[in-house]
Parts: sequence; structure tokens; C-alpha cells
Amino acid sequence: MSTAGFNSQNGTGTGQTYTNGPSQNPVALQQPSGVGYSVNHQPAYNQMQAKVLAPPGPALYPSGPYQPVPPGPQVGSYPPAPAQPLLPRPQIGILPSHTPPQSASPSPGPRPAQATPPAQATPPPPAVTSTSYYTGPPAWQYAAPRGPAPNHVNPAAAAPPLMSHSSAQPPGPGAPPTSIHGFTQPGDVAGNGPQAPNSYNHVDNRMAGAAPPGPPGRHLGHYPSLPPGYQNTSAPPPSSLHPALQAATQPYTQGPQPYQQQPGGPGPGPGAGPAQLSPSMAAMSLQSSTPEALRVVNLLQERNLLPPAPVPAPTPCLTQDLQKLNCSPEVFRCTLTSIPQTQSVLNKAKLPLGLLLHPFKDLSQLPVVTSSTIVRCRSCRTYINPFVSFLDQRRWKCNLCYRVNDVPEEFMYNPVSRSYGEPHKRPEVQNATIEFIAPSEYMLRPPQPAVYLFVLDVSHNAVETGYLSVFCQSLLDNISALPGDSRTKVGFITFDSTIHFYNLQEGLSQPQMLIVSDIEDIFLPTPDSLLVNLNECKELVQDLLKSLPNLFEKTMETQSALGSALQAAFKLLSPTGGRMSVFQTQLPNLGVGALQSREDPNQRASAKDVQHLSPATDFYKKLALDCSGQQVAVDLFLLSAQYCDLATLGCISRYSAGSVYYYPSYHHQHNPAQVERFQRDLKRYLTRKIGFEAVMRIRCTKGLSIHTFHGNFFVRSTDLLSLPNVNPDAGFAVQMSIEENLDDMQVVSFQAALLYTSSKGERRIRVHTMCLPVVSSLSDVFAGADVQAITGLLACMAVDRSVTSSLSDARDAMTNAAIDSLSSYRQSALTIQQPGLLAPACLRLFPLYILALLKQKAFRTGTSTRLDERVFAMYQLKYQPLAFAMLMIHPALYRLDDLSDEGALNIGERTIPQPRVLQLSVEKLSREGAFLLDAGLVMYLWIGRNCHQNFLSQVLGVSSYAAVPEKLYLLPELDTAESQRTRAFVSWLRDQRPFFPSLHIIRDESQLKPHFLQNMIEDRTESALSYYEFLLHLQQQISK
Ligand SMILES: [Zn+2]
Repeated sequence: MSTAGFNSQNGTGTGQTYTNGPSQNPVALQQPSGVGYSVNHQPAYNQMQAKVLAPPGPALYPSGPYQPVPPGPQVGSYPPAPAQPLLPRPQIGILPSHTPPQSASPSPGPRPAQATPPAQATPPPPAVTSTSYYTGPPAWQYAAPRGPAPNHVNPAAAAPPLMSHSSAQPPGPGAPPTSIHGFTQPGDVAGNGPQAPNSYNHVDNRMAGAAPPGPPGRHLGHYPSLPPGYQNTSAPPPSSLHPALQAATQPYTQGPQPYQQQPGGPGPGPGAGPAQLSPSMAAMSLQSSTPEALRVVNLLQERNLLPPAPVPAPTPCLTQDLQKLNCSPEVFRCTLTSIPQTQSVLNKAKLPLGLLLHPFKDLSQLPVVTSSTIVRCRSCRTYINPFVSFLDQRRWKCNLCYRVNDVPEEFMYNPVSRSYGEPHKRPEVQNATIEFIAPSEYMLRPPQPAVYLFVLDVSHNAVETGYLSVFCQSLLDNISALPGDSRTKVGFITFDSTIHFYNLQEGLSQPQMLIVSDIEDIFLPTPDSLLVNLNECKELVQDLLKSLPNLFEKTMETQSALGSALQAAFKLLSPTGGRMSVFQTQLPNLGVGALQSREDPNQRASAKDVQHLSPATDFYKKLALDCSGQQVAVDLFLLSAQYCDLATLGCISRYSAGSVYYYPSYHHQHNPAQVERFQRDLKRYLTRKIGFEAVMRIRCTKGLSIHTFHGNFFVRSTDLLSLPNVNPDAGFAVQMSIEENLDDMQVVSFQAALLYTSSKGERRIRVHTMCLPVVSSLSDVFAGADVQAITGLLACMAVDRSVTSSLSDARDAMTNAAIDSLSSYRQSALTIQQPGLLAPACLRLFPLYILALLKQKAFRTGTSTRLDERVFAMYQLKYQPLAFAMLMIHPALYRLDDLSDEGALNIGERTIPQPRVLQLSVEKLSREGAFLLDAGLVMYLWIGRNCHQNFLSQVLGVSSYAAVPEKLYLLPELDTAESQRTRAFVSWLRDQRPFFPSLHIIRDESQLKPHFLQNMIEDRTESALSYYEFLLHLQQQISK
């Protein structure tokens, strides 16, 4: 097989074979048969299709996962799923009018409407005078910023790449009956090597060696050399929390911290690894551990629902032994941590079933294994993992398809304990997250070098923003930190109405600019000298970066031939694959892919539907699919004050597995907060880990079926995503259905395997496996609900729905998701009926999160929202890992003027205060205080009019409230305890995410105040309900 295989799939551009377009991939809903989903994956889908033909209901998943439920006792007043046009339900937006907004309500128009012709270089928004923004040390520091995981010690063991004809993921159940190399391809020379004593490399423990070995009893003969992150030594501090909360406090203290397994009980005794347990022993009764999750909460009465610290992920109800080995929820999460036994139970719960993944997350501890044999199931190709069972020392049973497989000879040696005969103690069966150095049969071609091509807008508009000098300086600063090796290549293209190439061939005294003005039929002037070896030509590259900003300083060229520039870049990268970084500052208006403005500024605050959420042309999508076929990913940096039609341009990244960055109103002088964000983001972008020519496959236990993926990628087959690049900041989600009853199963497993080429040219496979219990009762399903994962998945589904159907439809569907699940809970899971709006404790935040989504930039109506900002929010919801998406949905509010060290975290020498998370309501604000709102990409520090003098002087360094500058973007570095605490907390928040949130310090009369107040989602606004009103609305619908 060769790349031609997916060329043919990707290149048609008709959309019929693609499953990942907004236009082709409607949340498994109104899809005519055959479209939008692969033909070899029929069963679950057929059912959905049958329903789809019914009038499109507002629910997000009325058809697929939602089978008609046999009418229960109370269904008379509540129509079952299939008959859910649900027209009688009033839309949120058109409820009877409300009383006038509270005084603190945001004004409806946060931004002045700007109706400007696209191509004009207009002066950006109001000038910002202060330039004293934060210039401290880099906030986002990763333990392993680039290159392979730090703890692999045997680079020599990686065989030189060989050409091989075997597929990366050999398909089909008929594995060849060959040697103990269970998955050796016929005719594959490399795989049939002699049974040499393995070149198998231990789990490296350089890190562990340095760390204290931990209590001796803890890993007695069990796993002596595990790095510290695997020893569960650091229990989360808050011990007064419910156990489930405790367990999951970890996920949010993420960022550059050791990878943590879920805390569990004591490890398995010697020789009794969980992998040896039969599945029947594995699950345990739910009763003992979930009373809190099922505690009945009357939402109308219980106001303080937020836990004091960020909401933790629930812990699946597994035996401690299994849970201890389970995958971290930071990497792998399921909306239901107890899987319903049948689709009909799932239908009754009215909750979506799906997975949320952060597969390439930076981990400071990652076991890396080099072995000539990667043990996989012969039938379904699952990688051996902690949740398989060993029948004896020679045979293991696959936990996904239940086939019994042989244990290869090599596996009998345990490199960790250096002992023989204990296959269940191998690192592969002790770690739910592990990385393999892949042998040559995992290669379609020799691993590509790291290739970086930068495509830069140099039109007048671009020069006006001043981004070019920031970009060039950033690249100069980080050029030695670009991930790669001696083969790394770079190249540059600039464009306005013409395309400019740069000859950087070694030996030239200075870079040569080559201008191609025929943009209709683009060609490469000197194909061999445009992408050059970075090491050999570094000086020329540096020369170019130093001169570029001046080169176009005086340009008057206003046109933008982006489409042609992308075509040229694609041609240049096609032979190798690589990463294309595109910087664009305006609507492309010349040549192929030219666009026209579609935004009507007068409609930004419309309470009705929003138009133009789908692409205006399929040019960018088609090109992205071509790129994907040649292992090229396109990352888009959009820096613009004007409408750029992100809905269309974003397709170039979406289908090529790239990323989209957006800096609205970027200007080097007028918007220092954006400039700093751009600089910080660039540094991270240029230096973060990268994987090339990647594919990700997600497998699950027989009976479960995956459909509908969310994120940036191209779906190559039912369970295989094509990712020309993979980066550590990308999240994914998938929806699932239950095709066959899971009657005789106690647990099921999910496995994500990411095969990629490292920047050093190694082929690697990162494997994550998660195990979850199967339950039969509806209450148990509810008890295992993961409200954040559910919200994150619903957000993805709602984005698709907004594009394929309409925004109002998506909004109704989200509201109905809350109504349906709470209604089902009341009717089918509650044993004692009582008045009120009742929810199980684990879902108590569900209505709040739904309301938050309705008020989120992506989905809100009636509030002025620029189309590009809305579309960007939609991209973010689909692409961000869950933890970051949740901050966008439900920001965190903290009081900062009374920070103390009580309950503070101690990380290294830093003491990080941990203020309580407050409800998002002006009720919680006080004029005497200072409050930080953390909304993910942006933070606001609001200073009350009567703010304590102490905070003003000790933290802000001003003498009075009136002296707080109008524009302030940084906390001054004062030598006071208050200043240190405040800065420690803010930078700790920033450290936990891979992008850089800007900080706006605002007084009460600031023009940014409406932006701050828009996040007070529990309050009523002119166009949206308060939380309490929303609850009443839900209750009314439920009791109908
Ligand atoms: Zn299997």
C-alpha cells in the first residue's frame, strides 16, 4: 500500500466519501443513507437514518443513540424520543419578556459595529497607550518541550527506517499464522528476524533514578523502576472531599506535572497483577461507592452547586486494582463512566455516549518501550494492555474481541524486573499509557524529516498590523529550538497580489527573492532550493528573517492571493509532507479561493438565526484534503481587525489536522495584549512537540461502535483518523453507540493508538487504554455520568448542528438535552417522587453548563457577536481538550483581594494560593473587592470602586482607585506578600494551558466591563434567561 491509497480517497472533493465535513457529518442525524458515514459501518447508523427522515427534531441525538423508548408510565405527558419535533417547546430566546436587566447587565453591544470594505487597510480600534505589559518569564514550560519523550534511553535500538509494504495498521481479522510475532506481515522481512535476545529496552528510569524510590513496601517486587509519576505517591491534598472528588482533583492540576495514574488502593500483590484477573472479578458493586453521585438534588433550592475547586472527573466504579492502572482522565474520558449494558438503557438515560481524548498531551513521565515485538491481538489488532487477561503464561485473551492469543517468547522476559516468566508484569500490561518505538513494518516509507514552511501575508494590511516583525523575531529567537534533527528543512513564501519565493541554497551570499506573478497557474521557480536544510543554511535563513520586515515596509499592495500562495506551498511540501504555517491578515480577494465579505454587521446582535456558518467555497477544504493526502498539515494564524470569513478559511486547517489561531484586532501598537498573546503563542507553537504523518485509530470492545468524530482531521476509514501533523494541544471527541448487548460483560475497554513520526525521524506508537464497568440499571448509568465530558461532547454536536441545520436548532437541542435527561431521571430512576427540579448530584451542574453554552460566544443570540469570533469559538469547542473547553464554557471566578496561604499548593519553591471558585453572578462581586475571571483565552481582573486600599497599593502599586490606569495588562512585580501571592496564582493558572490568556485589569467604568459581565452567566441579560429562570423553564417542560 502506498500513499496513493488515501490519495484516491481524499482527492475527489465531492464530499460523498468524507465523513468529517460539517456539511457531510451531521451528528449522526439527518443524514441520507450512504452519505456522511462510511459504508462499511452500517448497523447503528441504519437505525438513525430511519429516523432522520422524520422532521428534524431539536434534540441533538434523537435518532442514533436515542431509540424509541417503550412508553413508560408517564410518557403520556412527554413524547418519546422519535416523535420529537418538540415544536411546542418554546425556544429560550422567545420566552415571554423579562423584567428590565439588572444594573450590572452588560450592554448589548460590546463592540462598535464596523462596516468596512474587506480589502481596505483601515486603522484598527481605539489606541492603547500603555506598553507596559507583562514581560516575565515564559509561562508555559513543559517538562519535555520537544523531541522524543525524555525517558527513552535506547535510541540506538531504533532500527533505521526501511521501506516496507505492510500497512501501518494491517487490517482484517485473518492474521497470518506465522511466528510468535503475532502481527508479522507475510513477506515482511523485517518482522521475521531471529529471536534475538531483545533489543528490548526497559522503561527508562532516568527520572526515577533521580527521584526518591518511595516507600519500600509500595513497589515490592512489583514495579521497582517506575518513575515517580507512576507510583501514586502524591495524593491530592484536599482530603475532606468526597473520594470521587479527591481522585479527580488531579485532572485540573494538570499542565507540566507528572503524569498521574488515578489514585487507587494499594497495588496488586506480587504475581497478582490485575491483568491476571478475569473480567468477572474485575467489576465491583456500584452501591458502595456512589451514594454521593446519586444524591437527589433539588436544583431550585440548592443554590451553591459549584465545588470550591474546579470540578473533578468522576472515578469509574472499578476495583482499586483496575482503577489504579486505568488511563488518566486528562488523556481519555468517557461521558458515561459506567457503560449501559444495552442501547435501550442508554436511550432511556437520554445522555450522549462518547469519548473525549487528548492523545498527544505533553507528559512528563511516559514509559517508552523498544522491542522487536509489539504484542497485538491477531484478530482485532489491539495492543496488549493492562486490561487483557492471561489464561496462563503462554496465552492472553484480548479484552476487545476476546480472542485468545499466544504470548510471544520475548514477552516472557521482563526488562523491568529483569526476570523471566512474568509476562503480566511487563510494562505493556502495567501502563495504560505507553509509547512504542515502532519497527519498520509500521512505516509506509522512510520517516519524513521535520519540514516547516512559513507562508506570510505581506500585503499593506499585513505590514500595517506589524505582525511580521514579531513573527520574524520569534522565529529567530526559537530557531534552534524547532523540533527536528540534522535533516530538518525550512522554507518561506510571502504573498500579496503575487507570490514570492526565497532561494536559500547553501553557498548564496544572501537570500534571493523570486517573484511569480502568474497566480493562475502557479509554478515553483527553483524547486530544489526553496526548502533547505536548516543546519546547513541557518545563516541565510537568519538573514532573511532579519530583512523581511523591512522588505515590504513601503508596500502599497492591498490585494491578497492567499489561494495561490497555498497552492504553491502545497506543491513545495508535497514530496516530503510537513507543516505549513500560514499567516493571514485579511479576506483573500484575488485569484483562486478569493472571497467576499458575508458578514452584515447589523445582524451581529440578531436574536434570529446566524447565517454563513458554513464555508462559502469548497476550495479550502479540497486543498486541505490534498494536503492530508501528502502528509501536509496547515496551521492558520489569522490576525485581523476585519471580517476574514474564518468559516471558509478555517477548512484549510480543519481537514488537514492543523490548528487555527485567531487574533482579532491585532495591531502592534494599539493592542499590546494581543501582541503579547501572539508572541507567547508563537513561542509555544514553534517549540512544542510535533508528530508527522500520523494516524490515530480508536478501538473499543466488541458490541460498542464508534461514529462521528470531532476535532481537526480527515476520517480515512471508520475508526482511523488521518493526522498529517499531531500536536500536544489537540483534543478529539467521538460519539458511540451500543450495537450489541453487553450482557455478559463486566467491563469494556477503549484503546486509542496514535502512530506518528517524531521530529527525530523515529516511528512511534502511543497507546492509551481505558477500562470502564458495564452496568444494567439506569440509576447506575446516571451515577457514572461525567457532566463535563457530556457538556463537552454536546458542545461539539451542537457546533455541527449549527452548521448543518441552524443555530436555533442547535440551541433548542442543547436545552432539550437537559430536559430529556432530567425528565428521564425523574421518571425512571427516582424511586421516591418529590416536588422540585430534581437531578442526581453528579448531574447537578448540567443545567448550568447548558445555560452557559447557550450564552457562550459560539451559540449566543441577541448579543453582538462578530461572525469570525463566533466561528472561532466553535472551532475551539471542537478542538480544545476538554479541560480548556470547559473554561470557555463556564469560566472560573475568584476573589483575589483576600488571598491567603491557607490551603495553598506548594510546587517547588512556589506557594500558590487556592481561592474558592465562585458562582458566576454579580451577587458574588463586591465593590470592596477585586475579582479574577478566567475564561480560558482571556482573563479579567475587575477592581471594585471601593477596593481595599491594601490591594491597590500592595498588588497594583497605585495609591487610589482613581489611579488605576484605564488600560492595564500586567500585574506589577512588587516586593510584597500580596503581590507575590496574586502573581503566583495568575501565572499558575496560565501555566496550566498551552496557550497564553491575556489579562485585562479593569476598573468598574472600563469599556471592557461588558465583556467581563457577559460571563456572569447566572444573571439575566436583555437577551437571555437567568439561571433560576432557566431552571423554571426546564421544570415547566419536564412536568408537562
Ligand atoms: Zn482482539
